[in-house]
Amino acid sequence: MSTYKGVCHCKHHQWEVTLNDEQSKHILCHCDTCKILGGGAFTMNQIIPKSALKITQGGEPSKYTYKGDSGNSVDCYYCPHCTTHIYHHQQVMGPDTIILRTSLLPEGRKNFDVGAEIYGKDKMKWEKEVAHTFDVLPPQ
Ligand SMILES: [Zn+2]
Ligand SMILES: [Zn+2]
Repeated sequence: MSTYKGVCHCKHHQWEVTLNDEQSKHILCHCDTCKILGGGAFTMNQIIPKSALKITQGGEPSKYTYKGDSGNSVDCYYCPHCTTHIYHHQQVMGPDTIILRTSLLPEGRKNFDVGAEIYGKDKMKWEKEVAHTFDVLPPQ
């Protein structure tokens, strides 16, 4: 287990997250929503228990809700000042599981490897495969 610090672009929000070795990796998501919300070809995430994340500064982030592929709501939590998306919560995953943006951890940007790629079906045609790629999500 390691504890990593995260910070949004304007530094209003700061947080700490505890990850085991298996979680200390980026899962690349190539879905179109990630391209639009993230502004890049993919986002870098990890699925974690909600209790592993502690917001240490800035209080409760702002919330943006949209309907995911499954028809269920997805709540995105972001800094109201700089709009950095800190984590999101897919209601379909239950109340205790969240998806953390691992690219916002300075240690993650420097040292994390890629664990897997998801939504390979929407991957841009010029992107090379860097880890095992699932068409959508890994089988449950
Ligand atoms: Zn901010
Ligand atoms: Zn995505």
